[in-house]
Amino acid sequence: MKAEGHPDYQETQVTCSCGSTFTTRSTLGKPLHVEVCAACHPFYTGKQKMLDTAGRVEKFRQKYASKSDKAATKAAAEAKAPATAA
Ligand SMILES: [Zn+2]
Repeated sequence: MKAEGHPDYQETQVTCSCGSTFTTRSTLGKPLHVEVCAACHPFYTGKQKMLDTAGRVEKFRQKYASKSDKAATKAAAEAKAPATAA
C-alpha cells in the first residue's frame, strides 16, 4: 500500500441542528454539521414533524406576513403543530 494514496480517515464530531452530537469517522478533517440525524428524523422517531431544513417555512411566513397577519399566524400554527394523520 502506498503511504500517500489514502486520505486521512479520522474521528469526526457531528453536530445536528436538533442539538444531538455523535462521533463518526470521516476524511473531511473538520467537525460536521447536519440538519437532521437519527435522533430527530421522523422515520426513526415515528413522529410527524416539520423539517424546515432550508428555511422554507420561515420564508413563507415572511412572504405572507405583510399581506395578512391572520394567514401568517395560521401558517405558523400549522408549521409548529401539524395535524397528525391517523
Ligand atoms: Zn438531529
